[in-house]
Amino acid sequence: MSLTIPAEDKTSYYLSLEDKYGAHNYHPLPVVLERGKGVFVWDVEGNRYYDFLSGYSAINQGHCHPRLVQAMIQQAQQLTLTSRAFHSSLLGEYEQLITGYFGYDKVLPMNTGVEAVETALKLCRKWAYQIKNIPTGKAKIIVCAHNFHGRTLAVISFSTDPDSTSGFGPFTPGFEIIPYNDTEALAVAIQDPYVAGFLAEPIQGEAGVVVPDKGYLSAARKLCTQHNVLMIADEIQTGLCRTGKMLCCDHENVRPDILILGKALSGGMLPVSAVLADNAIMLTLQPGEHGSTYGGNPLACKIAMEALTLLKEEKMAENAEKMGVLLREGIQKIQSPHIALIRGKGLLNAIVIRHADKNAAWKLCLELKKNGLLAKPTHGDKIRFAPPLIITEEQIVESISMIEKSLRALD
Ligand code: PLP
Repeated sequence: MSLTIPAEDKTSYYLSLEDKYGAHNYHPLPVVLERGKGVFVWDVEGNRYYDFLSGYSAINQGHCHPRLVQAMIQQAQQLTLTSRAFHSSLLGEYEQLITGYFGYDKVLPMNTGVEAVETALKLCRKWAYQIKNIPTGKAKIIVCAHNFHGRTLAVISFSTDPDSTSGFGPFTPGFEIIPYNDTEALAVAIQDPYVAGFLAEPIQGEAGVVVPDKGYLSAARKLCTQHNVLMIADEIQTGLCRTGKMLCCDHENVRPDILILGKALSGGMLPVSAVLADNAIMLTLQPGEHGSTYGGNPLACKIAMEALTLLKEEKMAENAEKMGVLLREGIQKIQSPHIALIRGKGLLNAIVIRHADKNAAWKLCLELKKNGLLAKPTHGDKIRFAPPLIITEEQIVESISMIEKSLRALD
């Protein structure tokens, strides 16, 4: 049917379909994509764009990486789902690879990011009752203001963003919210003997790439150890080379007790997430107490193994580090009056827009789109710049000129 639509009408055709038949729970940029390769995506009218969102950091390896496509096709023809009622010849191999890769005893495979966060929270509570001997029903988990850990009811129960919470109560108890990047606040809150865990993003991605002070993660690690509290790192967005190291916690040589991964664990092929921990924590879960029909399916295992292997073989952490520096320096050099701030680590960056028009960030994204680069505002005035980690120096230079040109439209 779409083949009969004149090219110039295609975008509005697809927009109207989504508007009519889809829930209105997103506000996307008006661009309809139909193809992706590496750092680029193409819309239905044939226009090419740099993808500076990378599926919210799921596409670290680049769109349709040939090795991931190959793994997907090969495994799709062999076996895709067994459920965990039976074993598969790939699950154990994947578990061996990912635990060795990150240095944990065990992994619990899930699908979406938020499921992995829920899993980590449940695991932390189990450990609290079985090992830390917190009285039943009393376990508390400390979280940070302006967090983003996903959209399920338990997880939004500790969100501070009214868009996430309004109209969705009643909420799940057992969480205490403290300010992010505030070691003192953590030191106070963690005194409570019923605290079982501290959950944080090493950089707050959705909040607008909020990078904590140097030393924050290691101070948090120290406090957690001192008080027998599990440090839970949500590296769903920051992990897998995005910030210039394999994990963002690696910047401070911090090893969380529970590590949560997702997004780029499949390089954009399908939802694959994971929770990693050592035996003393993971073995508190018994058969039947947690699970997922698709979690650890053979297709996911195959793709995740390839996605992880690629990150190292193609030195994506090193490239993210180098290209991140070039990107931030390049944007700083533009010296635009409309950029209040550029911040980030590796290729997880954001600019904060300064403008009388409160829609300026959205308008800038429309202008960027016109000039061949896709990015999306968050919280009104922030725009994330997070291209795939395979981006080259030449491509960074071209992107910066697109950003410079687009900024001029705000004059
Ligand atoms: N945690 C973090 C830090 C995230 O950035 C996200 C998604 O953006 C999630 C959790 C939720 O992941 P998903 O959308 O796959 O459920």
